Amino acid sequence: WKETLLQLEGELSDQELNTWIRPLQAVEEGNRLRLLAPNRFVLDSVRDRFLERIQQVITVLGAGKQVQLEIGSHAAVSSLSGVETAVNTPSEVRPAAGLPQFTNNLNPNFSFNNFVEGKSNQLAKAASLQVASNVGKAYNPLFLYGGTGLGKTHLMHAIGNTIIADRPAARVAYLHSERFVADMIRALQHNSIEEFKNYYRSLDALLIDDIQFFAGKERSQEEFFHTFNALLEGQQQIILTCDRYPKEVDGLDDRLKSRFGWGLTVAIEPAELETRVAILQRKAEEAGMDLPSEVAFFIAKRIRSNIRELEGALRRVMANAHFMGKPVTLDFAKDALRDLLALQDKLVTIDNIQKTVAEYYKIRVSDLHSNRRSRSITRPRQLAMALSKELTNHSLPEIGKAFGGRDHTTVLHGCRKVQELRESDARINEDFVNLMRSLTS
Ligand code: ADP
Ligand code: MG
Repeated sequence: WKETLLQLEGELSDQELNTWIRPLQAVEEGNRLRLLAPNRFVLDSVRDRFLERIQQVITVLGAGKQVQLEIGSHAAVSSLSGVETAVNTPSEVRPAAGLPQFTNNLNPNFSFNNFVEGKSNQLAKAASLQVASNVGKAYNPLFLYGGTGLGKTHLMHAIGNTIIADRPAARVAYLHSERFVADMIRALQHNSIEEFKNYYRSLDALLIDDIQFFAGKERSQEEFFHTFNALLEGQQQIILTCDRYPKEVDGLDDRLKSRFGWGLTVAIEPAELETRVAILQRKAEEAGMDLPSEVAFFIAKRIRSNIRELEGALRRVMANAHFMGKPVTLDFAKDALRDLLALQDKLVTIDNIQKTVAEYYKIRVSDLHSNRRSRSITRPRQLAMALSKELTNHSLPEIGKAFGGRDHTTVLHGCRKVQELRESDARINEDFVNLMRSLTS
């Protein structure tokens, strides 16, 4: 089961893992693997969404065990998640519906110590350290934003863990924005909205992850707005993350958007190659594994977009090497990752193109979305648009939208310009060809 978990960790989001997979307890009995779900809700979801894949992985791993899903808990079985995230189960976070105990939901595995610093995340880390040592006084709120899998949640937990380590009595609560919404609805149903409010307002630090999920949920935003104001007034720390710049979240109240900007808003950019290599080496070291640098470079070059996927690839290589009892060579890694990379190659997305182009020209992805008009930005922007036209099935208006909401005529103009330049300017043509190759090979 541990090996299966390892594999699933490379495939599913943290949210899915924490909500559905990690709360399961496993009991291995001969040819059976019994998975115990804490309640009917988890059981149904796991059966509908994940069971087939779990069974497949177990078969592929050669265990040949038959998986059986049931409700229950087994005191003698240690929690599969180890220390971390089983606390994300609904009953434990619920503030209002009768459970008095307080859990902070922090994952002790995410610390500043094991966060590898690079140019892409330097500012975010520095700001997080500031907030951790001046709770409520440095920047409030602290708002971290950036694409998925870049380390926002990690930094958020690192802040929480540092606060608690410095001051064990501090009341810190981490939760995903969907949890906030669910808790609020439950509180409304139980007529306990006052307790709900009091709970959140009693915190020293409130950490809410992925606030883009608030979009369109007006009542939750209303409630959150009041909580937010109360906490700010009390100099209690608020830390938020989002997958994009707050002003760009559709369906989010303007009052909230503007308040989010009152403290400090910092971006985490996709990690550059050197940082990706450093992260791989760090993770391998933590796992007690020897990772030759050519293998680290190979993985880091091929997986560019997201640290979570980077970790997933490394885990897959490590698991394969472990099962087959072989050393990790470049050929071995290529073989182990063949399917994954083939799949990835089919997935040339605009997002990916933007990241690749930004990295190539050493500019920021946000520059591609911005209105900046200097040549050093407009050229890469036009190239990225032309590549998007060439390599994806998106329409011109869709591409325009993905580039900071530009008009389709701007995209068309960009594509024509690139065509023209490729014929007249050998360097531009070379850039285009290089980018094309790196996106498709
Ligand atoms: P996000 O919340 O931005 O989607 P996460 O914080 O969940 O991303 O990060 C995804 C994974 O990548 C986590 O396992 C995290 O520990 C790891 N990770 C991200 N950035 C770093 C980093 N700079 N150093 C070490 N690990 C990192
Ligand atoms: Mg996250």
